[in-house]
Amino acid sequence: MVALPVLQPRPAPATPPRSVRLSLTDRCDLACVYCRPDKRDGYLEDRLEIDAWKTMAEGLVRAGVRRVRLTGGEPLLHPAVVEVVAFLGALGLDDLALTTNATRLARHARALRDAGLMRINVSLDTLDPARFRRMTRGGRLDVVLRGVDAALAAGFDEIKLNAVVVRGENDGELEDIVRWSWERGIVPRFLEVMHIGEGAKLKDRVVRASEMRARLAHLLHGGEALAEADRGPAKYLFARRGDGRKVGFITGTSDTYCKGCDRLRVAADGTLRPCLATNDGLAAGHIARRGDPAKIAGAVDDAWRLKPDGDVWKGCTEPDAASVSMRGIGG
Ligand code: SAM
Repeated sequence: MVALPVLQPRPAPATPPRSVRLSLTDRCDLACVYCRPDKRDGYLEDRLEIDAWKTMAEGLVRAGVRRVRLTGGEPLLHPAVVEVVAFLGALGLDDLALTTNATRLARHARALRDAGLMRINVSLDTLDPARFRRMTRGGRLDVVLRGVDAALAAGFDEIKLNAVVVRGENDGELEDIVRWSWERGIVPRFLEVMHIGEGAKLKDRVVRASEMRARLAHLLHGGEALAEADRGPAKYLFARRGDGRKVGFITGTSDTYCKGCDRLRVAADGTLRPCLATNDGLAAGHIARRGDPAKIAGAVDDAWRLKPDGDVWKGCTEPDAASVSMRGIGG
């Protein structure tokens, strides 16, 4: 077990983890400016094999997990992603979702839907090809847009768009992104740059959700933005035109949301990580490889005792967060 002084084992939180993010791989084909310095920043050497992932998944469900999201790195780079989704789809989960940069979504969307994937989030910060290339260090917007079209055609229960807003880069595009998303039945969400990894170098370029809301005030009802039950930290405002469309805001920096967090992460090497904002965790890859889900459930219980106390812990704004790799932990 690797534990920084701040996260000492303590009695497990009253509720077990209900929601888990599996980082199928830490590899990614993009290098977004707020996430990693370049594409040569190093990868894990030890990644779980498919059978170990299956044991991991069964153990998590035994431990009480009801909602799973596949992420990474870029989950669609994993050669067995559809097989993993099919396995998870047969476990009777309440929710099965995936977060992707969509560079490979055109070729996988239909198979993922058929394998039981319910919902998909596409990370897309801009609709401008040159800006997209700059923000992702070389990515092609046309490829991603084809992926989005394929996801729309596959008929997922829900598609969300996640855009990280960087001052001086895409902060003038909020309205265009909202209108583009709404036209397609996609739910747009805007994220503050979190002070995690490379994001910690962009503190002067954070756009707070309050400013984003002000920029979109002519489109959205005012009042308190509301979270959705069992759907993470995003808070939503509805369209003024009253058609049920909405916009989400994720305020990792201006308003941390650790209290009540029921989320556990599993890194690509099988490390159980109780918080996005620290490198603390409990190595469980060797347990998963032994093929015993009951032992994984026990390890989940141990890892959950490392969960920071949300009353005092300030998540992504804690100084330690700068040393975390979002790509490695499974953002
Ligand atoms: N490759 C997949 C993707 O692009 O969606 C999944 C992994 S990516 C790390 C998950 C999400 O984390 C993306 O929406 C990305 O924009 C976001 N992200 C990464 N670093 C961030 C940071 N410093 N602040 C806010 N969001 C960040």
